Amino acid sequence: MMAKPLDPYRAKRDFTVSAEPKGKRCRPSAKARFVVQKHDARRLHYDLRLEHDGVLKSWAVTRGPSLVAGDKRLSVQTEDHPIEYLAWEGAIPKGQYGGGTMIVWDQGTWTPVGDVAEAMAKGHLEFVLDGARLGGRWHLIRMKGRGGEKKQTWLLIKAEDAFARAPGQPDILIEHLTSVISGRTNADMAEGRVIRADHAARAEIAKDRPRRPTQAKVKGARKAVLPPFVEPGLATLADAAPSGPNWLFEIKHDGYRLQARIDGGRVKLLTRSGLDWTSKFAPVATALKALNVDFR
Ligand code: MN
Repeated sequence: MMAKPLDPYRAKRDFTVSAEPKGKRCRPSAKARFVVQKHDARRLHYDLRLEHDGVLKSWAVTRGPSLVAGDKRLSVQTEDHPIEYLAWEGAIPKGQYGGGTMIVWDQGTWTPVGDVAEAMAKGHLEFVLDGARLGGRWHLIRMKGRGGEKKQTWLLIKAEDAFARAPGQPDILIEHLTSVISGRTNADMAEGRVIRADHAARAEIAKDRPRRPTQAKVKGARKAVLPPFVEPGLATLADAAPSGPNWLFEIKHDGYRLQARIDGGRVKLLTRSGLDWTSKFAPVATALKALNVDFR
């Protein structure tokens, strides 16, 4: 029987244990898509996958892509992945093939320069990425075989263009640590933090709306002069905690409790007895100053 393109992919995985898609071979989409997954497996790497001929041609880029033109990034060609893998992220159980966390670090469309099959055979694929984080022209160049090596090693190189960065400019891999689809980091994924279904919508709103509380929306609020100090409620020692639906409890972490007084951009941090401790917590005061609050 003729081998199918996804046979090696399926042979490596136990789909009763891993949530990865089993995959089917698909018709090509109108515009070929690509994904870069940040894969925190035995060793952190980035997987570049280019949609071609109903599957995803895949490379494990060991140090991740570099936007610096001419930077060579070792890329080990891996088995073709199914199209469903374009949007897959999750945790692959320890002990399984590729065990670790995987996030969709970038996705978009790609355009090959010339014929893909020919370029793959020749060992030099030139292409343009149009993603959320990666763009411009790239080269994948196969290294001369070192004899008997099962896996083919390529170099991923950014070409010189408007998307290229100069050496010393910020590293795109440090600039962006999260998933482009869920906003999670690999660490979030490892801790099993759930994606909020409304994550994308919330991120969109947060982006173009300066958040500022409106006095009108605070029930019972009345305009008044900001008092120089608001005496805080202090804890009372009791034998037992009260119960009932009118009570909420929170863990009391040890540390300093301070009151932040923000008056027309002037920040003061006051202790419970009203002492000014602003200078002791200067970074906190600076962060509070950056908050967009103003009730004048
Ligand atoms: Mn991988």
